[in-house]
Amino acid sequence: MIELRCAKQAVATGLFVVLGAAMCQSQPLWDLANQKKELLRISTLFTAQNVRDHLSSKEGIDKAVQWCKQTGVTHVFIETFRDNYTAERAVLERAKERFKAEGFEVSGCVTTTRVGKLSGGWDAISCYTNEGTQKQLQGIFEYAASLFDEIMIDDFLFTDCQCDECKKARGERSWVDYRCDLMVEMSRQRILGPARAVNPRVKIIIKYPQWYDDFHNRGYDVSRETADYDKIWVGTETRDYDNKRWGGKVQYEAYYIMRWLGEIGGSKTGGGWFDPYGTTEDTYVEQARQTVLADAKEMLLFCYGSLLRDTGPANVEKLRQELPGLFKLAGLVRDKPVKGIMAPKPPNSDAHDEQYVFDFVGMLGLPLVPTASVDDTAQAAFLSVHALKDLAFVGKLQRMLAANRPVLITDGLAKRLPDLDRENKSLTILKVNGNPRSLFELTREQLKPIRDQLLAPFGMKLDAPNKVALYLIGDNCLIVESFNDEPVDVSLEFSKAAGARKALVLPVGGDVDLSAAQGKLNLAKMTPRTLVAIEY
Ligand SMILES: [Zn+2]
Repeated sequence: MIELRCAKQAVATGLFVVLGAAMCQSQPLWDLANQKKELLRISTLFTAQNVRDHLSSKEGIDKAVQWCKQTGVTHVFIETFRDNYTAERAVLERAKERFKAEGFEVSGCVTTTRVGKLSGGWDAISCYTNEGTQKQLQGIFEYAASLFDEIMIDDFLFTDCQCDECKKARGERSWVDYRCDLMVEMSRQRILGPARAVNPRVKIIIKYPQWYDDFHNRGYDVSRETADYDKIWVGTETRDYDNKRWGGKVQYEAYYIMRWLGEIGGSKTGGGWFDPYGTTEDTYVEQARQTVLADAKEMLLFCYGSLLRDTGPANVEKLRQELPGLFKLAGLVRDKPVKGIMAPKPPNSDAHDEQYVFDFVGMLGLPLVPTASVDDTAQAAFLSVHALKDLAFVGKLQRMLAANRPVLITDGLAKRLPDLDRENKSLTILKVNGNPRSLFELTREQLKPIRDQLLAPFGMKLDAPNKVALYLIGDNCLIVESFNDEPVDVSLEFSKAAGARKALVLPVGGDVDLSAAQGKLNLAKMTPRTLVAIEY
C-alpha cells in the first residue's frame, strides 16, 4: 500500500519525483507508528537548548520533522526551560504549530536545573527552602503553562541541600521528612497551583528518576506526588552495566521500576524514558525492550540533540529495525497481569546495604511481580530489608511461612528478624552479603534449587545460566530473555510445554531453537542478548 501510494505521488508530482521518493522512504515507520500509537507511542524531547539550536530555523524544523517520522516518533515534547536557560516564546510557538500541522502530538517540558540558589551538592540542583528559588520555579511553570496543555517535568525535581537555611527550616524533622514535605509543598504551591491558574486545561507530569531506592532521601515522595500530579513517567535508562561513567545498572531495573511505579500510578502512568549515554546499539535497544515489557504505554527517546551525535545515530538505526517487534511485544503484554514472585518495595522504604537488590534478583531467572505493598496471600515472595517499612510485616511473613508458601529472603533481612525460624522448609535465605552485585557470581547449579522452590507454585522449573530473566505474562505467555554475551541453552518444565510456540524473537536477527519433549521446553542456542516470547 505504501509503495503504491508513493508511486502515484511520484508520477503526479512529475518534477518532484526525487523529493517524493525521499519522503516516501520515511513513511513506513511513521505510518506504522500512527496505526499503533494507542498501543505504544514513541516520543522524543527537544531540550530547551535543542529548541534554540535545532528548531530556530525552518531548515532545522524540517530536519527534525523528517527525523521523527523516520523514527516512528509521533509525539514530541518541546522544552521551555533547562539549566537556567529559557527558550524563546516565538521559537517555541512556531515549532509547536509546525509539529501539530505535520500530525504530531505536542507537549511541553521543564527541567528544573540551575534554578535560583544551588544546593552545592549534586550538580545543578537547587535549594528549595530559598524564597528566590521558589519564585523562579513558579515563573518557569507559569511560562510553560502559557504555551502548553501538557508539561512533563524531567527528573531533577528533588533536593540534596543542607545549607543553613534548610537546616533551620528543617528543625527537628529528619532530612527525609523535611525534603519530602518541601518538595510536596513546592509541587502544590509553586508548580501545580500557579500553572493551573495560568492554564486551567494544563496537565502536569512528574517524571521519576530511575534511582528508586533513594527517592525519599532526596525528596521524591511517590505516594503524595503521584496523587497530586496528573500523570507520572518513569526513568528507564539502564545504559551499559560496564560503562565507566554511566554503568552499574542492570537491565532488569528498567522493568522493575516501570512495573513498580506502574502499580503505584495506575491509570496515571504514562511512559518510560531512556537515553543513549554510555550505551551500545545492543544495550540501547534493551532499554526499549524492558520499557515495553513492563507495559509502558509510551517510550521517550531522550533527546533529539543527543541522538544526532556519538552513539546516537547507530542506536536509533537499530531501534528503527526493532520497532515493529516492539509493537508486537506491547500487544503481548498490554494490560495482562504479571504472575510470579511478589517483590515488594514499600514507598519511602530504606534499602540499607541492599540497594536495587530487586534488579539483580530479577536477573537470576526469578519472575518477579514488582509491587509497593506486602501481600501475605502471594503464592511466593522475595523479601528484602525494604519490607521492614511495612509495620505489619513480621506477622505477614509468619503467615506466609505457616501456609507453606515459598519465601526467599535476603540475609540482611534475616539478620534483622531475631525470631525467624530459619529451619522452616518454605524459607530460603539468599546471601546478598550487603552487595547485590555479588549475586551475579551464582552459578547455574547454585541457582537451580532456588528457582525450583520459588517456581513450584506456578508448576514450573527453570534451568539456565545467570543473567537469563523469566517473565510470566497472563495465562498463556511467558518470556525468556538472555542478557549474556554468549549463546545460552535454557530449559523450562511446565505442563503445557508440548504446545508452546515462538510468538516473537528480539532483536531482529536473534534466534533460538525451540523443541519440546517430556514436559520440558528446550531453548537451544539462544543468541546473545535475545528475548523470546512464547505462547502456550
Ligand atoms: Zn538549602
